[in-house]
Amino acid sequence: MKAFVHTTVPYGDDGKMVRGIIAKCGGPGCEAAIPLPVNTMQNMRSGDEDLEFQFIARKLEAKGWRVGRSHGAHRCPRCLGAAKFSAIRKAKQMPNENAMGDKLKIVKDNMRVMTREDRRIIFEKLNEVYVNDKVGYGDGWTDEKVANDLGIPRAWVKLIRDENFGDEVGNENIREQIKEARELLAQIKAIEPRISEAQRLIAVADKVEKSLAEIAKVLK
Ligand SMILES: [Zn+2]
Repeated sequence: MKAFVHTTVPYGDDGKMVRGIIAKCGGPGCEAAIPLPVNTMQNMRSGDEDLEFQFIARKLEAKGWRVGRSHGAHRCPRCLGAAKFSAIRKAKQMPNENAMGDKLKIVKDNMRVMTREDRRIIFEKLNEVYVNDKVGYGDGWTDEKVANDLGIPRAWVKLIRDENFGDEVGNENIREQIKEARELLAQIKAIEPRISEAQRLIAVADKVEKSLAEIAKVLK
């Protein structure tokens, strides 16, 4: 498939019609077309077509066109400009808009005032997931999780919990850790005699190894 329409085009001041091509812009809804006189070589050999394409592409690119390999792939300077402009605008504005959106959300969150209804909802949720001031939260619940669950600022949860319930992390975790440490200690104590025995055997092995080395020297 040829990239250009081969036809006759006006040339020079008198508008004489000469052999040439017309490149059409493939931009959406764009009717732009550019005529270019090309003295098409007679008896074109294979490879000449490629040379001709390169010649045409250079000429059109000098006039601000982007040249593609097929009819619909060319773009006129106006369409190129519009595409560039929208790409630049997207690249420049998108991150800013996102950052602005995030900032706005934080500001909105901070500006949100806790209503009596909010307090009641948070209290009820804490009542459900907070065991008591010794155990703290049950089942892996945290301030963060409660805040996400209710879709409210974490600071509100902390406030209501501090006022009405207890610390975020209860003593239950600490108790659990002590229990684990005790179990570990018991395991170490259980194998301690074996460790002592192993150490004694290693000491014996060292002596045997030294004796072997001395015997080996004598036997040389
Ligand atoms: Zn165009």
